[in-house]
Amino acid sequence: MRTGIGYDLHRLVEGRSLILGGVTIPFDKGLLGHSDADVLVHAIIDALLGAACLGNIGSLYPDTDPRYAGANSLQLLSDVRNRISDAGYEIVNIDSVIVAQSPKLNPFTSLMRDNVASILHIDSGCVSVKPKTNEGLGPEGEGLAISAQAVVLLARSLGPREVD
Ligand code: MG
Repeated sequence: MRTGIGYDLHRLVEGRSLILGGVTIPFDKGLLGHSDADVLVHAIIDALLGAACLGNIGSLYPDTDPRYAGANSLQLLSDVRNRISDAGYEIVNIDSVIVAQSPKLNPFTSLMRDNVASILHIDSGCVSVKPKTNEGLGPEGEGLAISAQAVVLLARSLGPREVD
């Protein structure tokens, strides 16, 4: 068993879509970033990479690389899933927190969990997403940013590598 932690934060700005866990959420602002700035998926990616000691999102998908301009973060997550699998691990579960003062995210968490679980080929019962406000404090509480944290648990897989 191996555990990993991930964290990310993006600024909230006008003129961008708000995409969290692959769900486009109706709001008057969105997250600023080179990719689609899906802060939840970025935290999950870093937790997965961390658990397997495979680097981090910035080293694998640099924001200076034009290939990742406007990238769909779920596609990056799919690539990370392949890296985890190639390294001989399977995903046991994921827990996560999104810190956003607004909008209210509870109506969307089940779609986010389904999106992440589907990309990772695991049951949505193994993906938890918990929205929190920041009680009006700090950049998230003041509506300047949204952040996310994730932890994952990996187990050695019994895939072809071990059978060989
Ligand atoms: Mg990010």
